[in-house]
Amino acid sequence: MTTNRGRKDVIRDRMAATGESYNVAARNLKAMKDMGATREALLVQHWLPADSFDVPCPCGGTCEPGETCDHCHARHRHVKRYPGSVTDVETWADRYECTGCSSSYTITVQLTGRPWGVVETVIQGGSAESVVRARVFPRVVHPLLRPAAPEED
Ligand SMILES: [Zn+2]
Ligand SMILES: [Zn+2]
Repeated sequence: MTTNRGRKDVIRDRMAATGESYNVAARNLKAMKDMGATREALLVQHWLPADSFDVPCPCGGTCEPGETCDHCHARHRHVKRYPGSVTDVETWADRYECTGCSSSYTITVQLTGRPWGVVETVIQGGSAESVVRARVFPRVVHPLLRPAAPEED
């Protein structure tokens, strides 16, 4: 994809093949380009907590061992991971829940090379000011940011 003309041809090919509108085809192609990184991000985020402490944590082992609970002395288990920043795409938050009571805590982790989105510079509003902003990959759930809006061409 080197020229704008080339990009439009690719989009038209997809429109012909799928019957999608121009905008939909363009969006889907862009999503495919991001898909490699997106797949990684989804693996980082979407997994089910381990059934026992005998098996490695399904998050990929990039978490800390759960702490012992002050209340019931059971151990905390890593149950969830979600983006932990609105600007730093390699910052994630890990949630731990006690296996014996309702205690829980969250810690911030830095996962280098495992971003939940991309940082891009966009021109904003009438002042044409450029701002740096993070775009969340499709299907990654961010507690504060919404997924990227469909692209207009
Ligand atoms: Zn984990
Ligand atoms: Zn507990």
